[in-house]
Amino acid sequence: MTSAHQATITDERLLKVLELERRRGFQDTAVAGGLDRILQNYVAGSRDSLAADVIRTLPEAGYRALPKHERNVWLEDVLHALGGRPAPVRKPPAPRRERTPKPSAQELGLDAPVTVLKGIGTRLAADFAAHNVRTVRDLLLTFPRTHSDFSNLVSIDALTPGEDETVRATVWSAHEKRLGRRPGTEATVMDDSGTTMRVIWFNQPWVAKQLKPNSQVMLAGKVRIRDGRPTFENPQWEPWKEGADLAHTGRLVPVYSQMGDIKPPTIRKFAHQALDYADMLPETLPEEIRRRLGLMDIREAVRKAHYPDTFEELARARRRLALDELLPLQIAVLLRRRAWQASGTARPLRIDEQTKSAYIDSLPFALTGAQEKALAELLDDLAREIPMSRLLQGDVGSGKTVVAAAGLLTAVASGHQAVMMAPTEVLADQHFRTLIEVFGATDEGPVVEAHPPYLDRPLRFAMLKGSMKAADKAAVQEAIAAGDVDIATGTHALIQDGVSFASLGFAIVDEQHRFGVLQRAALRDKSDHPVHMLVMTATPIPRSLYLTLYGDLDVSVIDELPPGRKPVTTRWWPPEERDRAYEFLRAEIERGRQAFVICPLVEESEVLQAKSAVQEYERLKAEVFSDLELELVHGRLSGKDKDAAMQRFKSGEAQILVSTSVVEVGIDVPNASVMMIEGADRFGLSQLHQFRGRVGRGAEQSYCLLLSEDPSFEAQQRLRLMEETNDGFRLAQADLEMRGPGEFFGTMQSGLPDLRVADLLDARLIQLARDEATHVLDEDPDLSRPEHAGLAQSVARLFERTSGEQH
Ligand code: ADP
Ligand code: MG
Repeated sequence: MTSAHQATITDERLLKVLELERRRGFQDTAVAGGLDRILQNYVAGSRDSLAADVIRTLPEAGYRALPKHERNVWLEDVLHALGGRPAPVRKPPAPRRERTPKPSAQELGLDAPVTVLKGIGTRLAADFAAHNVRTVRDLLLTFPRTHSDFSNLVSIDALTPGEDETVRATVWSAHEKRLGRRPGTEATVMDDSGTTMRVIWFNQPWVAKQLKPNSQVMLAGKVRIRDGRPTFENPQWEPWKEGADLAHTGRLVPVYSQMGDIKPPTIRKFAHQALDYADMLPETLPEEIRRRLGLMDIREAVRKAHYPDTFEELARARRRLALDELLPLQIAVLLRRRAWQASGTARPLRIDEQTKSAYIDSLPFALTGAQEKALAELLDDLAREIPMSRLLQGDVGSGKTVVAAAGLLTAVASGHQAVMMAPTEVLADQHFRTLIEVFGATDEGPVVEAHPPYLDRPLRFAMLKGSMKAADKAAVQEAIAAGDVDIATGTHALIQDGVSFASLGFAIVDEQHRFGVLQRAALRDKSDHPVHMLVMTATPIPRSLYLTLYGDLDVSVIDELPPGRKPVTTRWWPPEERDRAYEFLRAEIERGRQAFVICPLVEESEVLQAKSAVQEYERLKAEVFSDLELELVHGRLSGKDKDAAMQRFKSGEAQILVSTSVVEVGIDVPNASVMMIEGADRFGLSQLHQFRGRVGRGAEQSYCLLLSEDPSFEAQQRLRLMEETNDGFRLAQADLEMRGPGEFFGTMQSGLPDLRVADLLDARLIQLARDEATHVLDEDPDLSRPEHAGLAQSVARLFERTSGEQH
């Protein structure tokens, strides 16, 4: 070991290394000898960061020992903790095929390399491979983005300028010609009507040689009038003879997405050839389902998805292919759910009616109907031996915490332990304080006691997070292991190797989307029995999406805000009104309120993000609010400094909190009534809504001020929608539609399925797939029937791709 290896590893260096590892596909090749040493060194620098916490969740054998999928998920978590950029949304590579002595193209059939197609050499094959198209099957399953309607065959004398039309004509003459500054092709053609027309191709001189005089061709495109004559410019074209199966003209013609240098018409040419293999496609859906739902068989569906006769036929083909994707997905999530439920008996956790009522009566408010319903669902589940996996969804401020706390109380009343895990230290702290408040305790020492009157024993809380002093950490770990802590809150630190629980019964994970599958599994491993799991999220997720992503979870939704809450008044202030926005903010502060100022999003890294936040803070302090107290929080502050700043804001010592997006979730300061968001156009709707949820928690009217220098048209639409509605579900739906699921979920795309045809927002089709999946599994729980062989294979492929998820 050289001394260089011993040097402290900075966040920046680790970030670089891990990003390289990601680019290289999680092969453990980013540094010589593997990542484990650098990870150990980083942690050994006794780092009190969230990243170190996440690293400590690795199993003993290290990163090296993780299967690839788990590496991916885990690494994204660390990168997120380091403030790195989310991975670009990328399709998972196609499963690699085994190399055996070369069989003939015939034997390979669908698995034959694309080079069996006429015109694909090794060079083009490499270009295709770069887009995960390696075999004939891959090409068959590369579906067009859209179709051009060239079905309208007309004679030249009847062409209508501006319309998509096809003509069949004889080549009169064709020659290379300079068109503009570059060589192109000019041709004259004539059809049965005896009319000639001019056809030109810019930048394609080679077409001149391909157009044999006196041969027949089909030409398709939009006609333009040039020099008073109808002209085709760069039309699609192909030779024609009687009985030809047209690829590019004369019908609904598929338009593919360009792949690097491979142009759509080139892809079309080869997709058309590949269709000769379509008859080899094995059927994947059971006959019974196809008949009942009136679906095409797979071969017809694939053929028609490329070359439909009508748009109606195209829609039917796509629906069938979408189900092909959605049904295995639903079966997979249902299987995962069944496996989890069958993984053992959980400890039944029960609370008697009296204690429960006394707890609810102790709250300074009555529960809303939605809270009562969610609570009943939660307590029902906890009382069973089947391990719960439930998602608790509710908009910011809907009151999830008191519901969750009732679950914690239930675990303790049954004599077991519970954990509540948050994605950041700020949030973990807040949970801790909320619990202390709800159960009434005094905040002292690592283990805190509460004596709620309705419980015949004390409730003992502890917090575990990376930034704690080593001695405190050790003391808490010991207390947890000895059963001297009833409720542990904290960050990833809770699921590190050194932590073991005496008798864990219930686990709450806040903000699911920040937690990888591996972390969930690690949490589960903390108990000899399966643990009841509750996942909480304040990001409203449309039903179609959670059925797919969290299909293995039951869902409770708190879709009602506590009464008397006034909707936050939201307004987009154009740049010229910036000063007035500041005046508005100041006026609120003079009335005794407080304000958040969120800094614009800087994509590159948390380091730059922090820098820009510091600058904004300095500017506001010096130039705008020099007479007020300002605090600053960003991701690069130590836990202690962040804490102190938050505390000064919460207590009212500071009137303005300048912050990066770290206050996104969960921060609760009821006296804050203004949320000013700089660079609002840079944030997605769901995130803006999260910010806005930080205010409007008290009795006062609250305001959200959106500032944006030069929003794009689309951004303006988003800002308008923010002004219009306070409905988180509506905003989430709009956000998804505008940005797509990949962007919507940011770093968690590793959980998003790779869909070619199906639309994750198509709630009806997803529900249909769900119902059919349930039906299939009820009849044939292990998919062993011959008619389910195709489905079983698709499901197996899904599990292969996400091998870490099947626990
Ligand atoms: P969430 O976690 O869903 O964003 P919280 O549980 O933090 O929301 O609750 C937000 C605020 O509303 C807290 O101050 C909480 O005490 C309060 N609250 C919760 N439920 C109710 C209710 N039924 N009536 C009035 N206030 C409530
Ligand atoms: Mg909360």
